[in-house]
Amino acid sequence: MDMASLRCEFRDAAAERAFQRHHLAMTQAQLRVTFIFCSLFYLCFAASDMAWLGYSVRTTMLMGARLAVAGVALGGLIVLRRRPGSIPVTRGVASVVEIAGAAGFLLIAALRPAEFSLHAISMAIVVIVIYIYIPNRLLYAAAIAAPATLGFIVLAARLGDLRRVELGTMAALLTLTNLFGYVAARRYQLLLRDEYKAQMVLKNLSVRDPLTGCYNRRHLHEQLLETEIARAQRYRLCLTVIMSDLDHFKAVNDTYGHNGGDAVLQRFGALLQSMTRDGVDSVVRYGGEEFLLILPETDLAGGALLAERLRHALADTPVEHEGRQIAITASFGVASIDFATSAHDAHLNMIAAADELLYAAKNGGRNRVCTRQLV
Ligand code: C2E
Ligand code: C2E
Ligand code: MG
Repeated sequence: MDMASLRCEFRDAAAERAFQRHHLAMTQAQLRVTFIFCSLFYLCFAASDMAWLGYSVRTTMLMGARLAVAGVALGGLIVLRRRPGSIPVTRGVASVVEIAGAAGFLLIAALRPAEFSLHAISMAIVVIVIYIYIPNRLLYAAAIAAPATLGFIVLAARLGDLRRVELGTMAALLTLTNLFGYVAARRYQLLLRDEYKAQMVLKNLSVRDPLTGCYNRRHLHEQLLETEIARAQRYRLCLTVIMSDLDHFKAVNDTYGHNGGDAVLQRFGALLQSMTRDGVDSVVRYGGEEFLLILPETDLAGGALLAERLRHALADTPVEHEGRQIAITASFGVASIDFATSAHDAHLNMIAAADELLYAAKNGGRNRVCTRQLV
């Protein structure tokens, strides 16, 4: 998973989306805490303005600006609650609150022009909050924080009574704040993605058989089978499973040793994977030399056709091992359900049925396919 270095996201859009989805709950939890904190922050300042500055048109406007920002942040909480599953909405809410916070702050600074040196400290805090505290795309954060900083410096030059050197220093320090904010946010984004990549590697290892790279039986029972059956049931589709087993595998091990046996298993696993549909069909190493295929939206005729194609491919090309040719065949049991017409519990013994058919193929002389429609 390659990374775009400036925006610090995965170059592959699908990988980036999967990453965002993986972190969506955490992102929203962070946003909620931040929004509550920001609202309280602005509300407290609205109250302290009134207490210290007393009532005037200007303090009323100040309070209005602060209340408006708090209102937008609270509105953000409501939107997040209504659309918890949407990545674009989450991003949009984060950006809107960032823009409102920055714009509200600029208005407040303009309304209190005598205190620009103090405002500069607040501006630095606003920049850091945008880059680091509010989770958002790095690009969006930069596109909001940098113009807000520029606007602040322009306001300070126009309205503040700062000396040139003070203004220059302020501008330089705020530019540095942006730079550090960007770098820190970038590191955080990198760290999150590195951690995600490591998690995916581990997850992949935990669901696959190390020798053949096919899914393992645990993954089949924990997730694969249930997911595919639920989907086929829900949409009343066909589902076919193929149980296959290498013929006379013990003899291969006895003749060519365990390395020869492993080479045959690897070849068979690779064949099953390469001749079936990526991301659609699942290939599971079910037992020692037994492999299970799960074929969504495939009927009995399609499953039988595929099993024949696999049987021929294996029988036609011997496995090469240490300069020797190992001839090998396999037997196949194909069981299919059409969820549009089948009884509601027909799927319960689907794998057992495929297993029975496999043994029928073995008893029928091996290197053959037996099929049955479950009703
Ligand atoms: P894939 O879906 O991962 O399929 C991998 C290989 O499985 C195919 O390689 C083919 O050898 C075999 N295969 C899968 N489904 C069938 C099938 O219905 N009939 C037959 N005879 N073989 C099948 P292949 O043919 O080199 O295709 C490579 C990739 O090209 C496929 O990967 C798929 O992504 C795409 N593709 C090829 N033909 C079609 C098609 O008719 N429809 C769709 N949606 N994609 C296709
Ligand atoms: P076909 O090769 O005669 O396959 C007929 C049916 O067998 C397919 O109908 C499908 O139900 C099943 N089938 C065959 N191979 C596979 C497989 O690897 N996985 C699964 N799940 N089912 C398989 P379908 O899907 O309507 O495809 C119709 C025709 O489209 C296929 O006839 C083939 O000519 C072509 N086709 C589709 N995908 C591919 C592909 O990836 N590669 C090639 N070479 N042809 C494809
Ligand atoms: Mg066997």
